[in-house]
Amino acid sequence: MSLQQILGQEKAIRLIRKAISHERIPHAWLFSGMAHIGKYKTALALAQTLNCLENGDDACGHCDFCRQIEHEHFPDFRVVRPEGKNIRIAQVRDALDWLHLRPDRAKYRVLIFEDADQFNRESANAFLKTLEEPPPDTLIILINLNPQNLLETIVSRCQHIRFRPLSREMVLEILRAETELSEDQLELLVSFGAGGARSDLALQVELMQNIQDSVIGSLTDLSAQCMESMLQRTNDWAKSKNEEWRLVLDVLENWFRDLAWIKHHLPHQDLFHAQKKQELEQCSKRFRLEDVYQFSKDLAETRKNIELNANRTLALESLWIRLKHYSTV
Ligand SMILES: [Zn+2]
Repeated sequence: MSLQQILGQEKAIRLIRKAISHERIPHAWLFSGMAHIGKYKTALALAQTLNCLENGDDACGHCDFCRQIEHEHFPDFRVVRPEGKNIRIAQVRDALDWLHLRPDRAKYRVLIFEDADQFNRESANAFLKTLEEPPPDTLIILINLNPQNLLETIVSRCQHIRFRPLSREMVLEILRAETELSEDQLELLVSFGAGGARSDLALQVELMQNIQDSVIGSLTDLSAQCMESMLQRTNDWAKSKNEEWRLVLDVLENWFRDLAWIKHHLPHQDLFHAQKKQELEQCSKRFRLEDVYQFSKDLAETRKNIELNANRTLALESLWIRLKHYSTV
C-alpha cells in the first residue's frame, strides 16, 4: 500500500505528503471520518512511507520493511484495537511502554489506535501524558469516527485530518479492485456502504440481497398482510446470531436517506440505491418529508438502544409499527 494508492482522499493525502516533504511530521495525528473510507490504509501507507528502505517520498510497498508493516509484523509498528467494548487502560499502558523504547530498526516507531472512539476515561487519561511529552522518533495515529467521542485535550494535541465520505463512483472503483463480485453485487455493496467501501461484507452478499429485497419489498407495500409477514421475519432476524438486525437497519437508514434526497430533488447519480429509482419514487409518495427525517432519527435511536442491550425483537417491531404509522397511504 502506498499513499498514491489511497483513492478518494486527495485532500488528506496532500496534507500528509506536505508534512513529509517539509519534514514536519507531528507527534500525533488524528484521522477522523466514517468507517470504510481509507483511514487505516492511509495510516499504514504513512508508516510504510516513513520507514521504507527505498527512502522515496512514498512507500514502495515491496521492500522488507513495507511488507512487514503491512502484515503488522514489524518490530517498530503496533496497532491497538479495542478488547471487548473499550480500549482498556492495560492496553494503553503496555503500548506506551513499548513506544518509549528506542526504535529497533525503523526511523519512526509508529503506534496506531484503531477505533479510538473506544477509549474509556481511564485509558484516555493514561494516554494524555504521552501526548504532552512524546518520546523522540515516534508517531501516534488515532483513528476515529467522530472527534467529539474523544477528550478535547486529546484532540487539541493531535494534528487533525478529516476524511471525506467516498463518492458512489469511487466506492465502485475500490470494490471492483478489492473483490471479485459481479456488477449487480457491487451495486448491492454500494447501497449498504453509505459512502464507504464495505468490502468486508463481500462474503455475505446473498444474505444482504435477501434482506434488502425483503425490506424494500415491504416498504413499497405496507399492506396488513405484508406487515404481518415482515414482523415474522423481523423476529427471525432479531434472534439470528449473525447480527442480521444490523443489515436491516443499514437498509432502512440508506433507503430513508435516499428518500430525503429524492424529496429535495438532489442528483440521482448520488443515490445509494441508484438502480431502484422507480421503487424510491413510489415509496417517497407515501411519506412526508418531516416523517422521513423523524424515522431516520428513530432508526439511529433504535440502533443505539440495541447496542445498549434493548430487546432486539421489540425494538425492531416497534420500528415497523412506527413506519406504518408514518405512511400516508
Ligand atoms: Zn518500501
